[in-house]
Amino acid sequence: MEQWIIDKFDESHYKLTMQRRALLNYIHTHPHVTADLCTESLPSDRVSIATVYRNLNLFEELGIIEKLWLKGTAYYEIKNKSSIHMLCKSCGLVEEIEYPVKNMMTEFLNDSFGILVDDVKVEISGVCKLCNDKETLYDRKEHKS
Ligand SMILES: [Zn+2]
Repeated sequence: MEQWIIDKFDESHYKLTMQRRALLNYIHTHPHVTADLCTESLPSDRVSIATVYRNLNLFEELGIIEKLWLKGTAYYEIKNKSSIHMLCKSCGLVEEIEYPVKNMMTEFLNDSFGILVDDVKVEISGVCKLCNDKETLYDRKEHKS
């Protein structure tokens, strides 16, 4: 169990119970999992799908998992903490941008091409805000003279 997940529970008034732990571990090892599969995965047959849904909603609310809609079915996965990185061509700064690129690509590629995406790696190159502001200022000055 990754620390940031434990922290999410600590910050909330919810407890990271054995059942929730098992559920999260299952989602972690089985990306793109449905609620049905989650229910089947849990050892105790006393766990109802309603309980699983309640926990999935809670995890989503806490920002631990993400829901993807593929062909009308909800798939769950642990939130992709690795955001996209932008390398500034001008100053070399590597900026980390939190953007749900993986989910957006997964949904788009599935809807448009029927592809089930496993992983997405995106590298952005461009100019950071600071350099861009400087350049804009410079352009304006150039323009005036
Ligand atoms: Zn820069």
